[in-house]
Amino acid sequence: MSSKEAEVLPPHVLIFPLPAQGHMNPMLNLTQLLCLSNFHVTFIASEFNHRRLLKHTNILSTLARYPGLQFQTIPDGLPDDHPRAGQRSMEIVWSVLNIMGPCFKKMMIEKELFASAGRRPVTCIIADGVLSFAGDFAEERGIPLIYFRTMNACAFWAYFCTDRLVEAKQIPFQENGMDELVKCIPGMDGLLRCRDLPSFCRVDDANDPTLTELLILTRQTVRAKALIMNTFEDLEQPALSNILKHIPRLYTIGPVNTHLKSRLTENKNNHSTPSASLWAEDRSCIDWLNAQKPKSVIYVSFGSLTTVTREQLLEFWHGLVNSNHRFLWVMRPGSVEGSHIPSELDKGTKENGYMVEWAPQEEVLNHPAVGGFFTHSGWNSTLESIVAGVPMICWPYFGDQMVNSRFVSEVWKIGVDIKDSCDRVLIENAVREVLEVRKDEFLERADHLAKMAKMAISEGGSSYRNLNGLMEYIRSFII
Ligand code: UDP
Repeated sequence: MSSKEAEVLPPHVLIFPLPAQGHMNPMLNLTQLLCLSNFHVTFIASEFNHRRLLKHTNILSTLARYPGLQFQTIPDGLPDDHPRAGQRSMEIVWSVLNIMGPCFKKMMIEKELFASAGRRPVTCIIADGVLSFAGDFAEERGIPLIYFRTMNACAFWAYFCTDRLVEAKQIPFQENGMDELVKCIPGMDGLLRCRDLPSFCRVDDANDPTLTELLILTRQTVRAKALIMNTFEDLEQPALSNILKHIPRLYTIGPVNTHLKSRLTENKNNHSTPSASLWAEDRSCIDWLNAQKPKSVIYVSFGSLTTVTREQLLEFWHGLVNSNHRFLWVMRPGSVEGSHIPSELDKGTKENGYMVEWAPQEEVLNHPAVGGFFTHSGWNSTLESIVAGVPMICWPYFGDQMVNSRFVSEVWKIGVDIKDSCDRVLIENAVREVLEVRKDEFLERADHLAKMAKMAISEGGSSYRNLNGLMEYIRSFII
């Protein structure tokens, strides 16, 4: 290649998410947004997830339409039969840091930063914010690094302030102090109770190793040249302003899935956005929804990592059935701890609802029959629900979900938060609250937020401008 030819080559971005559904989805959407603007992208997937994408989706063949995109795989370091879910979810993070990290470094060196004919060596790394080794490598090699935090700004800000809470001795929580208000998070005074803090704050010892490690991983984010978040300015302005005081550049480009759809339309590109599901989507639930009345169904899904006990499952089920509302329930394989789904539940569900192992969630949330979402408050699910204008019942499981659910109920006021309880009467009441008692007020606010989200990604909106700014910034690294 002549030096003249090399000069006109586009930037080459390496994108590396934590290998979990909720991290991969937004980073794959960003990948496609960059490819649409003719960037070259190398996307790193774990071998395990890559196999599942091949098995359950056509995303890899669909994305072959982007000549600048290539996938590279590395082992995640866990055995194939590891559950990669529930209380063992954090083992994904540790294994990625300890095993995937060194493999990544070796591959980058051996493959000379993925340079090839017609492709520059990597000119920018966009890594998941928890991948500290990507930051180390970028620093060693002088490659510009941008982190992508896949949680929302409010939760990230709460994580960021956790060391202040330790210093102020709010962590560990005082005995019976779960309802005490948290004081040291600027912008959230009087809002968060101890129980609304990220779940890793629920420790007996301020030196708890998981808490300490997560604090380090959060704090190291500031070394990146910029931070990308899957949210939009109007939704989380106060938290974003606080984060900006610590991070030089902040690009909110969300909701990134809707953003991608809109840019595909804008480019007169009628490609659909392929699913990146790690489980086979059961589309029969759409036929079932087609036969239901408008806004009559509660959609129940706890994401890709949550597991529940048999007792919890039965409380959910009784609560849903007793509410007399119809429900569509996603029961992911392996999501019920230590047992199979009780057979009476399976039978009863046929009369009152519908059950699938994995759903095309965005399509479900946008279906006219869906009137509420019983969710674990994962950030992707929450944002997808906001975009679809669907009120929520929040039963957060861990991590940032504790913060998200508080914002849903107390700040955005588009649902109810039932964290830390699992009781059939409470669940029945929550369903009635969302589908009957407070239906109109929730729907009105949800609709308003959905409109704001759509404005953010439309031409001239904040996320639209920020994505353009991000691309310009990445281009500036090669000038
Ligand atoms: N999802 C899906 N089908 C399902 C359940 C979940 O496609 O049946 C998708 C959902 O749309 C979301 C992601 O899986 O994009 C889950 O991410 P989230 O951040 O909500 O939760 P996590 O799985 O990370 O806990």
